[in-house]
Amino acid sequence: MRPIPKPTATQATAPQETAPAAVTPETPHAAPAHPHDPIGAMLAKALAGGGPAAAAAAPGVPEGSQRCGLIAIIGKPNVGKSTLLNALVGQKVSITSRKAQTTRHRITGMRTVGPTQFVFVDTPGFQTRHGNALNRSLNRTVVGAVNDVDLIVFVVEAGQFNQADATVLSLLPEKTPAILLANKFDLIHRRADIAPWLKSMQERHSFAEFVPMSANNAKDIERLFGICEKYLPLQPWTYGADELTDRSDRFMAAEIIREKLFRLTGDELPYTSTVIIDRYEEEGALRKIAATIVVERDGHKGMIIGEKGEKLKRIGTEARHELEALTGGKVFLEIWVKVRSGWADDEARVRTFGYE
Ligand code: GDP
Ligand code: MG
Repeated sequence: MRPIPKPTATQATAPQETAPAAVTPETPHAAPAHPHDPIGAMLAKALAGGGPAAAAAAPGVPEGSQRCGLIAIIGKPNVGKSTLLNALVGQKVSITSRKAQTTRHRITGMRTVGPTQFVFVDTPGFQTRHGNALNRSLNRTVVGAVNDVDLIVFVVEAGQFNQADATVLSLLPEKTPAILLANKFDLIHRRADIAPWLKSMQERHSFAEFVPMSANNAKDIERLFGICEKYLPLQPWTYGADELTDRSDRFMAAEIIREKLFRLTGDELPYTSTVIIDRYEEEGALRKIAATIVVERDGHKGMIIGEKGEKLKRIGTEARHELEALTGGKVFLEIWVKVRSGWADDEARVRTFGYE
């Protein structure tokens, strides 16, 4: 017998004005560096990190020839760190949106290619604007992640560097090799602007490599594996060859709902809304999930629920589809919305909601 999932539940509330849905823009691929102009040559050199050295994956690599290492992905909010992690892992393990401050946890994603296991750590962007309990927790996560890694990938938007980037850069320990990843290279239209910027970046920190690329370009991602590989020590793998993340399905469920919430609500909804999983039950291939979206104000609740519950229904439907794809079975998802004013300012509550 195969139970049919019921539609997403919505909690009754007074209808409120609906905020416009957020749309994540699809972006074109980066233009490859041209070898015939000087800047192009410079970029080509920077890009010539070699392909995935271990593309021919051999199952059963002997322990003596295994490589394994930790790579921290850090940078200010919204530069593309989570997009990068997902592309590297080959599956979504970290949620993304065009809104800053989407990532709230240290997310580990791994990928084993041939003899090498790359263990990537995605982090929240370092928060400099508000000093509330939530942001203090996020910053502890970032600082914790840069220590004891084999390699740091410092992500910036190509051609840009401001105070927020500088704050994150100041966290880099001298002893750990760091790659400067100039992301969103597809948005650079005048390549001549990049050379002086690159020079100024080299003066700020002694980066081991410079990688201009786009996280959404498959070729660039492949090249990045080759660049990172040499920094990882020869040592046995930590995870199984097929493992992609250390996070549970329950955690992923909360994150996927939060992603839909962030993507489908307008900028009026403050980032301090969060999702908690009240129930996660598995019955064969069926998952029964009950979740609560926690917001700070009554007005925010209305924005999420939308007119006649339309918005919440859409959040639920999109999250359910993605969860079904992830788990390979049916999902019955129930989402409630609750107001807990001031939760993001309250250390104890921030911890109860799963932040470190
Ligand atoms: P994070 O806050 O650093 O984790 O950033 P996200 O991964 O959530 O990405 C923020 C936004 O930048 C999203 O809308 C992504 O689609 C977009 N983005 C990420 N990488 C690229 C890229 O290489 N090119 C362009 N044009 N957009 C990108
Ligand atoms: Mg992120």
